[in-house]
Amino acid sequence: MRTVLANALVFDPDSGTAHRNDIRLVEDRIEAVGQGLDGDERIDCGGGLLLPGLIDCHAHVAFPRAESLPRSARILEAVPVLRRLLDRGVTTVRDAWGADAGFKHALGEGWITGPDLIISLRQLSPTGGLGDAWEPDLGRRDRLGDPSLPDPVFDGPDSARAAVRRMVQAGADWIKLGASGSLRSVQTGRDITATDEELRAVVDEARRCGRDVMAHAHSAKAATAAARAGVRSIEHGVFLDEEAVNAMRDCWYVPTLAPIHNNEAHKNSVRLAMKAGVRIAAGSDMAMRPHLDLLEELRLLKEAGLGDEGAVKAATSEAARLLRLDDDRGRVEPGLRADLLLLRDATLDVAALPDRVHSVWHNGIRTRSAP
Ligand SMILES: [Zn+2]
Repeated sequence: MRTVLANALVFDPDSGTAHRNDIRLVEDRIEAVGQGLDGDERIDCGGGLLLPGLIDCHAHVAFPRAESLPRSARILEAVPVLRRLLDRGVTTVRDAWGADAGFKHALGEGWITGPDLIISLRQLSPTGGLGDAWEPDLGRRDRLGDPSLPDPVFDGPDSARAAVRRMVQAGADWIKLGASGSLRSVQTGRDITATDEELRAVVDEARRCGRDVMAHAHSAKAATAAARAGVRSIEHGVFLDEEAVNAMRDCWYVPTLAPIHNNEAHKNSVRLAMKAGVRIAAGSDMAMRPHLDLLEELRLLKEAGLGDEGAVKAATSEAARLLRLDDDRGRVEPGLRADLLLLRDATLDVAALPDRVHSVWHNGIRTRSAP
């Protein structure tokens, strides 16, 4: 079966330009892009803008809620969340902790539908850091612990290597590291962070296991240390400075503006990173907050200075490079995966995206078409 998407305005995220073309899909791939293509089935795109499927580099599809619920509730709540992401054109998600390997299994078996999921299980940290949930009255409070979401706490380089190995054993595609604590712990001067030796051990062990490291870091100091240790992306980075963005020249920056609303220091961090030429990828930090997902993040990235074209690039071709998937997705080119998003009209304007998603293809299958 050869399907031709005719009369589309095809957007190239790397050049920021669009050209009128037909696209021929065969199975899960884009087979050809060009004028006057023929096929077995023809879908008229009505001159609408066709984008690569969107990639969210930082989401939590199975995040525990504040109230206490049985574990199955956390898993089942993720089912409509995954479906909805696909409906909104998000075809790949890097989960920044919370989803275990069972989600990938269920997606692969077709029990549930959703974007391709890249998982990290839990975020590693030293005792007292971000991965170590502790309350003065209850002590250590592990709301996630089960064999599929192993213990993320380490102390010392050998212990850090063991934590990486536990995650890889349980199916982690990426290693998530809490290089700083929460925003609150950073602001109140109670941040407990890993030593440089521990950071290097996490990155080295991840590499030995064929994995990359994504590092949660709010403070400039934590971002600088994680970048120097060789992590592949810095997440959030609310308080970056010149030293941090210079250290981040070999990393990607995933600012996640959406959950940290309207923070001037954060916006300044994005400006500093852009000025230093740090590559920016889009991540929503979506965590069961239905008003907040990648489409909202694109609007904020646009406003932070990336513009419409830069925001879409951050969620497509640049995101694919961060994930080492750019030979497979992130652009509309022959040979790449048929993950596509058709807008109703020819304007890119990401501020108005949510109402303009017409159709979505994931692995060559049309998963959404507007009435
Ligand atoms: Zn997060």
